[in-house]
Amino acid sequence: MTLARKKTSDDIYSYLEHELKNSIQGEVNFDEVYRQMYSTDGSIYKMTPIGVTLPKNPDDVSAIIDICNKNNTAVLPRGGGTSLSGQTVNSAVVMDFSKYMNNVLEINPEENYVITEPGITIDNLNQRLKHTNLHFTPDPSTKSRANVGGAMGNNSCGTHSVIYGKTVDQVKEMEVILSDSSKAYFEEISGKALEDKISLNNLEGKIYRDVMSMSSKYYDEIKSKYSKVNRRVGGYNLDLVNPNTNKLNLVNIMVGSEGTLAAVTKAKLNLEPLPKYVGLAILHFTDLIESMEATVATLEEGPAAVEHIGKMIITQAKQSLGFSRNLDFLQGEPTDILVVEMNGTSERQVRDKIQKLEDKMKRLNLSYAITKLFDSSKIS
Ligand SMILES: Cc1cc2nc3c(=O)[nH]c(=O)nc-3n(C[C@H](O)[C@H](O)[C@H](O)COP(=O)(O)OP(=O)(O)OC[C@H]3O[C@@H](n4cnc5c(N)ncnc54)[C@H](O)[C@@H]3O)c2cc1C
Repeated sequence: MTLARKKTSDDIYSYLEHELKNSIQGEVNFDEVYRQMYSTDGSIYKMTPIGVTLPKNPDDVSAIIDICNKNNTAVLPRGGGTSLSGQTVNSAVVMDFSKYMNNVLEINPEENYVITEPGITIDNLNQRLKHTNLHFTPDPSTKSRANVGGAMGNNSCGTHSVIYGKTVDQVKEMEVILSDSSKAYFEEISGKALEDKISLNNLEGKIYRDVMSMSSKYYDEIKSKYSKVNRRVGGYNLDLVNPNTNKLNLVNIMVGSEGTLAAVTKAKLNLEPLPKYVGLAILHFTDLIESMEATVATLEEGPAAVEHIGKMIITQAKQSLGFSRNLDFLQGEPTDILVVEMNGTSERQVRDKIQKLEDKMKRLNLSYAITKLFDSSKIS
């Protein structure tokens, strides 16, 4: 771990710090404590940043990018910092959106959308939406810490991705600051509006031109080579740009770009109704392969979520003082369980779905026991 920086770098960094402090309303922290605090994230990697900024508004973000650009310095957006692959650590000026840029700007239950700044956690956003009976659906297990901006960066998804898809399926529009510090607004455009964008004589126009030309050239290859796995989140979503439709939404390219293309300063997100009734079926197995076979059979029954929990977690939960008190749903000594969630518009419908699943498991001779839960207080 190197705490001291080279003399020449120190001069540049002092200048950067000074420039940033004079230009933004938010915080600028280049001291050692901040740099060490931001040198790790949810991954195993450690890289000490040049400094940390906490922008208060899009103008701050634009100024940070402009100053860093002029000084040939990398910038790195950061939300909750829960990424697993080192996305938010680098030798760069970090822009942490979570402290100030976490405001909900508009809630529109009639048209099922919310406009928010990126630094709000997914849980806090959904708490704010509770009265509408709608929710923002991406649910990585870190959602109490993960920000909307981070979910967009990683194209996150969680247990309910089988019905709601990934973050890219839930973001409609975005305001972004591009690498030349200009502001752009991305949404689905077509026809004349798309032609106008393509002919813009600036960075935004170049982005539209480049994406369209890359897509026209390589669309067939991209379509055939991209993995068809539902939860593929690696790489840019070039498969979502179809040059034959004459429409384009650059949001699809931004989501999953891990902060490499632009900084998001606000986003319009799709909202889905909260399920009216929820039931759980916990399928028990003594064999991993059998539980995998049951997963395929379960997916055919339209579940809202299917989570596999394996031997290691079950064993550790049994040994934990806290978790062991909550394991009364287990029957016998399973090595693997599948937690299957069914949603419905009535309790009857949910019970029928779970009964059908149970009958199917019996018919296929899979799962030696099933625990069923319909009491929402126990499910949560
Ligand atoms: C224990 C554990 C469990 C996890 N489970 C899941 C899971 O179930 N599903 C899942 O998908 N992921 C999971 N993750 C990974 C991670 O938690 C999620 O991807 C989460 O959504 C990231 O959110 P964040 O706010 O922490 O993002 P960060 O880590 O802060 O950032 C993620 C990326 O987004 C970029 N970014 C952040 N804000 C902006 C912005 N305003 N503009 C542009 N780019 C931005 C960053 O540069 C970075 O590349 C897990 C991680 C851990 C540690």
